[in-house]
Amino acid sequence: MFIADAHCDTLASIALWGNDPQKCTVTAERMKAGGVGLQTFAMFTALRNPQATCYQDGVKMAAAIDRLGVPIFTGRLPDEAPDYPAGVISIEGGEMLEGKMEHLEEFYASTGVRLIALTWNYENEIGYPGRRGPSLGLKPFGLELLKEMDKKGIYADVSHLNDPGFWDIVNHMDLPPIASHSNVRTLCENTRNLNDDQIKAVIEKKGFIGINFYNAFLVKDRPATLEDVFAHIDYIAQMGGIDVLGFGSDFDGIDEWPDGLEHPGEFPNLITLLRNHGYSEENIAAIAGGNLWRLLKKADAMR
Ligand SMILES: [Zn+2]
Repeated sequence: MFIADAHCDTLASIALWGNDPQKCTVTAERMKAGGVGLQTFAMFTALRNPQATCYQDGVKMAAAIDRLGVPIFTGRLPDEAPDYPAGVISIEGGEMLEGKMEHLEEFYASTGVRLIALTWNYENEIGYPGRRGPSLGLKPFGLELLKEMDKKGIYADVSHLNDPGFWDIVNHMDLPPIASHSNVRTLCENTRNLNDDQIKAVIEKKGFIGINFYNAFLVKDRPATLEDVFAHIDYIAQMGGIDVLGFGSDFDGIDEWPDGLEHPGEFPNLITLLRNHGYSEENIAAIAGGNLWRLLKKADAMR
């Protein structure tokens, strides 16, 4: 079964934080062991490194793609979902563009970027974060950027964005919203998670929600289990969201996760979990990777 993951921070770990690729959570070997065919590697930049601007961080990460140890699709995607470990690139933290469309062009050419998290946890030239941000919509550059992303086949990733920014994407963009690594706010109150109206909108627009494995986005005040991951999946499925569901592990960006879901080699535990809960093979295949692949192919065809 094709398994895909919509978010990890491995590229920043290698290129910015100086970690050995072999010591990262996401490695080619573990992806292979877990049957993961596609990993979205984020160029994550928003930590405000005093030595470099976010744009310079981006250039550094773009140049380090070949250290990830798996082929990265920077041009056209293959016809069929890969049955070997491979990757695509996203941007996490639109501050990397520094308000300049030329920077988008550059990263589009060098990395084939597929989705952009418009903000991380800080205000930037595009808009405002969900965490501690004001209740304001996207800025003029943000709205302009959406148009350009529609033209280029790049999705807007709403995972760290505030609620008004989310609705700007729903109302002003043709491509559907993607929450690459966010959960259900009703089950775990956190601005990083989506409320029911947002989940409904993602379902209506046929977007995507990648379930995040980070403890604090799954449950409060106790260690999360695999069953908690299932609860978030099932909540969205019960709302009619089988076709928008997937995984957004956040590996290499988190320090607490459920037992049995510590690295990509353990993805099969999630597949077993869905089977044990009576999900059909067709639905499991959609959640495991089919949904994300379909969306990536749709945007790829616009390139
Ligand atoms: Zn994140």
